[in-house]
Amino acid sequence: MVSRAQLQKLAQRHGTPLFVVDHDEIRRNYATFKRYLPRVQAYYAVKAEPLPEIVETLYKAGASFDVASMPEFRIVHENIKRMPAKKRQAWIWDKIIYANPIKANATLRELDPYKPLVTYDNIEEVRKIKRHAPHAGLALRIRVPNTGAMVELSSKFGAAPGESVDLILAAVEAGLVVEGLSFHVGSQTTNFENFVQAINLAADIFREARERGYSRMNLVDIGGGFPAPYDETVKPFKLLAEKINAELERLFPKDVEILAEPGRFMIATAATSVVTILGKAVRDGKVCYYVDDGVYHTYSGIIFDHCHYHMKSFRKGPEQICGVFGPTCDALDVISMSEKLPADLELGELLYSPNIGAYSHASSTYFNGFPPAKVVHVNR
Ligand SMILES: *Cc1c(COP(=O)(O)O)cnc(C)c1O
Repeated sequence: MVSRAQLQKLAQRHGTPLFVVDHDEIRRNYATFKRYLPRVQAYYAVKAEPLPEIVETLYKAGASFDVASMPEFRIVHENIKRMPAKKRQAWIWDKIIYANPIKANATLRELDPYKPLVTYDNIEEVRKIKRHAPHAGLALRIRVPNTGAMVELSSKFGAAPGESVDLILAAVEAGLVVEGLSFHVGSQTTNFENFVQAINLAADIFREARERGYSRMNLVDIGGGFPAPYDETVKPFKLLAEKINAELERLFPKDVEILAEPGRFMIATAATSVVTILGKAVRDGKVCYYVDDGVYHTYSGIIFDHCHYHMKSFRKGPEQICGVFGPTCDALDVISMSEKLPADLELGELLYSPNIGAYSHASSTYFNGFPPAKVVHVNR
């Protein structure tokens, strides 16, 4: 963990707003994932935080990658290109899944020479893939229960259980190869039963496909959704892993490859935001701090990710419920209406938010002329 003294020193040297990425923590998270889910290959979901330095660290640690756009594909491919030429083609499936069920024709054409592994969940996409990326391997994205996830996805993607095998056979009839199934239980899933149900659903579909004559499927991608330990209500990852391992062991023979696409789990705890207090006012009796980062920038997860980040002070003082606002002129730019902070902080003092690595800096904008926070990497 980056110490508070180190955060202050970095803020002095680089200025704020600052997004401090701790690569030791990324490596620790990856190691934890592998230790408890040894059968599962982790494909880091690049969209959680796509900085190339992070991709490189995870690549060196042995991770693979879930990408959903060509720019994300290229960030990962930069690392693959450093492999000896002979190994590259063999490596692309091991290293990348293109896990966006809806792809532009131009994207498919660009992907095809790599013989990529891509997901799909509808018949129009089968026709597109046949036409523009016939060398792709396919994974059918199935719809699974998302109850209890912080971010729900089941209304946007996934084939219904009743149509899944039809979609597999339709792709096969079109001359494509369906390698397996994928799902996503929804982000920050704290209801571990969702994973259990989803794995069982996948096993049912494997069985039905076999009964209807297709037995070439050999991979299951159990997606993302592994929760970050934002607070003590999140049960330990070890418990989730035990449930997942038990179901995989029971339902899928050893030769079925298991993939996962953890995003948040790898990166949430690995970044800290440091901000400076720019202004202060008392409104309706409440102390309000105005800081140099906000919801259009590193704190964008408040809007897009339904996530709440704590603001902490570097020094103690008599605490009160305070408001914390971002630097833009927009009324939406509220970090918190009720954050417990010392009421006597002065302009120029620093605040920080730990555990802000996922879906934060990744969706920063230039709104109102304020650029994204500066990124600093430590322990790279
Ligand atoms: C966003 C996404 C992920 C990552 O989800 P996390 O909740 O961050 O683990 C994985 N797979 C797919 C298909 C996604 O869209």
